[in-house]
Amino acid sequence: MQITPAIHALRHPFQVPVAPGIVLDRFVYSYLIAGETITLIDTGVAGCEKTIFEYIRSIGRDPREISLIVLTHSHPDHIGAARAIREATRCSVAAHPAERAWIQDVELQNRERPVPGFSTLVGGPVSVDYDLEAGLTIDTDGTREYDLEVMHTPGHSAGSVALFMPGDGVLFSGDVIPVSGDLPVYDDAVASVHSIRLLRSVRSIRILLSAWDESRYGDDAYAQMDQALEYLQKIHKTVIASAGNGNPDSLELTKNVVAALGLPPQAVNPLLIRTFTANLRARDKDILADSRQ
Ligand SMILES: [Zn+2]
Repeated sequence: MQITPAIHALRHPFQVPVAPGIVLDRFVYSYLIAGETITLIDTGVAGCEKTIFEYIRSIGRDPREISLIVLTHSHPDHIGAARAIREATRCSVAAHPAERAWIQDVELQNRERPVPGFSTLVGGPVSVDYDLEAGLTIDTDGTREYDLEVMHTPGHSAGSVALFMPGDGVLFSGDVIPVSGDLPVYDDAVASVHSIRLLRSVRSIRILLSAWDESRYGDDAYAQMDQALEYLQKIHKTVIASAGNGNPDSLELTKNVVAALGLPPQAVNPLLIRTFTANLRARDKDILADSRQ
């Protein structure tokens, strides 16, 4: 789907096998910037290279014009097709240094952050050519027209980045902004709040392009971030209330919180356990108040 003359959104549906016979239907957006060359922001899961290449041909371009993949972070649905795309196009890959180890060694990621069906979602490791640090500007195609400013937005993961294109007022937010009512996934609840507030402070956002959500325009983009902050606080309070004063079994806690939040029971998986454990680590904090700057 075309968003601006140069920016296109690709929605990739995929399934996570959470238990024998039970799959969780998910989707992820990746984006392409078709300037003098083509830059991809995230790649979807293994196999998505076919969709991406077909789309590029459908707009009269050639997949071999892809010169750069910018990875917002290392999770399977963002890096899954990166290896295949790199092999087909010889493009470069850029990511934050804190994500590098899990991109270049996906078995390490699978051991340290197991996701059901990991090996079907990730097509293999890929080497990272460029480090993305806060304050860096990426000249995507050599014309400066589609420059991307890198913002470091940890919380969902330690090296998550968002990218702001000042020319068109477009913010690519990766997985930084949770969608109210959808599965919350983060490693650090307080950092997540900080990062959403950092993005909220960007004054000239015209279009918000998240990996988890449809495109949001103008005031709706800011409203989406406000809703995310409220959702994070609701989750935090629910986890703390469910945990009480003790040290609850993490699976039981997750089941209780999922029920209290009205999320589907099949959402109980290692990622949610990891998320709610992050809330427990910050149990003595009012996450909105403690992260106010
Ligand atoms: Zn992610």
